[in-house]
Amino acid sequence: MLELRDVAKSFGGNRVLNGISLTVERGEMVCLIGASGSGKSTLLRCINLLEPIDDGAVFLDGQDISEPGLNPDPVRRRIGMVFQSYNLFPHMTAEENVMLAPRRVHGKTREALRPQVTELFTRFGLADRMQHYPDQLSGGQQQRVAIVRALAMRPEIMLFDEITSALDPELVGEVLDVLRQLRSEGMTMVLATHEMKFAAELADKICFLDAGRIAEQGPPSQIFEAPQKARTRAFLSRVL
Ligand code: ADP
Ligand code: MG
Repeated sequence: MLELRDVAKSFGGNRVLNGISLTVERGEMVCLIGASGSGKSTLLRCINLLEPIDDGAVFLDGQDISEPGLNPDPVRRRIGMVFQSYNLFPHMTAEENVMLAPRRVHGKTREALRPQVTELFTRFGLADRMQHYPDQLSGGQQQRVAIVRALAMRPEIMLFDEITSALDPELVGEVLDVLRQLRSEGMTMVLATHEMKFAAELADKICFLDAGRIAEQGPPSQIFEAPQKARTRAFLSRVL
């Protein structure tokens, strides 16, 4: 579904991604772990074409989406992304937030979108929150609305950048439950996360990033129980 081949990215003279190769199969959940500054967010942003890459290639379903000159908009529509800060528009209800992009991009009316949007809210336990404004929702509910907003564009793959990091601890679980549900529905997902227990439980593959390289990747059983590299062991001993 997604393949990164030897991807490199620098900011000024700072090489932030240094030859990243990674494949994500359809329906897989891949977790990126690593210290702050190791390149996780940049990697996700390169996949979503929010950052142009300097070298290498990114393939989505066999299509090279990193080709210079390619129109990024149709590609971005196929890739949903959710960030740590959910950035809902405060003057719009949850429903209006979710409808905004499909209305603009697909030119659909609210009425035409309502069944699909209602179904999404219902699926993720938010049916009674559609007419609420963001400041009437908890942080966990706002983040779940942000996920629904990304799903409303019917993406083929979802990227999540530390989406639980800004939440109070008691609200993390309800957001992870949404990811759990998406995974069981077969959504292809790439997550940057500090939730090691969650990653160990649900990921098909863990990639440990260290200074812009994938220092080690493998199934959770390998990475968490039998890491091959000293750097992986050192990182895990700090966070577990
Ligand atoms: P992580 O998400 O793992 O914490 P990031 O991808 O955010 O790592 O950052 C990796 C490195 O790239 C850091 O050194 C960061 O300062 C640098 N960096 C990220 N974005 C930019 C940018 N837009 N301009 C300059 N440097 C950046
Ligand atoms: Mg980051």
